[in-house]
Order: sequence, then structure tokens, then C-alpha cells
Amino acid sequence: MAPRKLAAGNWKMNGDLATLAQINAMAGAVRGASCDVLICPPALLVPALVAKGVVRVGGQDCHAEASGAHTGDISAAMLRDAGATHVILGHSERRADHHETDDVVRAKARAAHQAGLVAIICLGETGDQRDAGQTLEVIAAQLAGSVPEGATAANTVIAYEPVWAIGTGRTPTTGQIAEVHARLRADLSARLPDGAEVSLLYGGSVKGANAAEIFAIPHVDGALVGGASLTAGDFLPIVTAL
Ligand code: PGA
Repeated sequence: MAPRKLAAGNWKMNGDLATLAQINAMAGAVRGASCDVLICPPALLVPALVAKGVVRVGGQDCHAEASGAHTGDISAAMLRDAGATHVILGHSERRADHHETDDVVRAKARAAHQAGLVAIICLGETGDQRDAGQTLEVIAAQLAGSVPEGATAANTVIAYEPVWAIGTGRTPTTGQIAEVHARLRADLSARLPDGAEVSLLYGGSVKGANAAEIFAIPHVDGALVGGASLTAGDFLPIVTAL
């Protein structure tokens, strides 16, 4: 059975106690939602968000090792023990800021799976790559390189996030999103026994005003939302559009 649709918020390095309080305003709508609702706050806010019991909670990164001398890092099991169910991996900001390669992302996803977390593996082309006509080639290579053996529809979600659409207010056309999601679906179906069931999220400037149009695209099973996940007023219209 296909997993439920997913509205996932990525707070990035934003959020404080006032942002946490926004969750209370979402409680009624989230309980009545027909999709799963996930928020990935900065790691220090994970326990406080879990304690609210309103949304599922995820991390934004984890280390590929289970433990050891890795100053400043946290493990997948630490996130799980804090109450997280998911972890975002390979976000383009981490690929750029922390030089994360597909190999690194794949190793982190393996660690997430071993800890019992759902890995939300992000991929997407840059503006230059799209302009050069390389989009499908780039996302296919990222998918092949970032998804570990043992990935299933139960432990893996793929988020297509064009780098040029993140935080810019620009989104691809519905046709461009459809083309990439169809390719992701085909590649996953060819590679994984239940690849047809893996949730495919779109991310990059999703907001209430464009959510319904994006969710109507074939093989779009939800969204990974940055800026518009920080307030109930912006996030709830996306949740209810799913
Ligand atoms: P955005 O970010 O919704 O602010 O464009 C999306 C993301 O980076 O996941």
C-alpha cells in the first residue's frame, strides 16, 4: 500500500520558542488532515516539538557513523531516541555548504535506515544544469548515487528540489515537475521492488497559492517546504491542499 501523502516542513536554521508555539495553532487542522504532517526543526528543538505531540518530527541531517569522534555531529539513533521519525539528507544547502557528495548522502541514508528513520533524500539540478538541458541526467545520477541498497517505500522518501527554485519564489512549470517525477518514478520502479510506492515530494518555493496545482501533478506525493513552513498561516493552506 502506498504511504500517505506527506507535507514536510524544513525549518533550516530558523525557529525559536515563538515558532514552536505556532504548532499549537496547527493542531486541529493537522489532526483532521488526510496527509502526514512532518516538521524538521533544528536538532535542538526536536525534543520540544516531539513533546507537543501534534506533528511528526524529523532531523535535517545525521552522521553516517553510529558514534565516534565527530565533533559537532549527531547520529541517526540520537534523532530517533529524541522522538524523530524522519531525517532530511542531501539537501542542496548541505551538498553546497558541507560538500556532501552522493556517496556521503548514501552512507547517511544507510545509517538512517539502520536507526529506523525514514530518509528523505533530496536531489535537484542547478539553474545552469537546467539551462544546459542536463536536468534528467543530473537527477538520475543523484538518485542512483544517493539511494542505498535496502531502500524501500517504507524507509525512503525522495524530494525533488531544483536548486534554483529554493527560497527564490520561482517554481518549475507543472510540465517540468511532471517530467522529473516521471523519470524518478521510472528509475525507482526499475531499481527497487516497491519503487512504484516510494513517496516523491516536490520542494522549492511551495506556498498556499501554488500547492494545489503542484499536488495535482502525477507522481507528486507531497511537498518539502522551507520558508512557508515557519508559520501556521503559511503552512496550513499547503497541508489542506494535499
Ligand atoms: P523553500 O525551501 O520552500 O523556502 O523554497 C524548500 C527547501 O529548501 O526545502
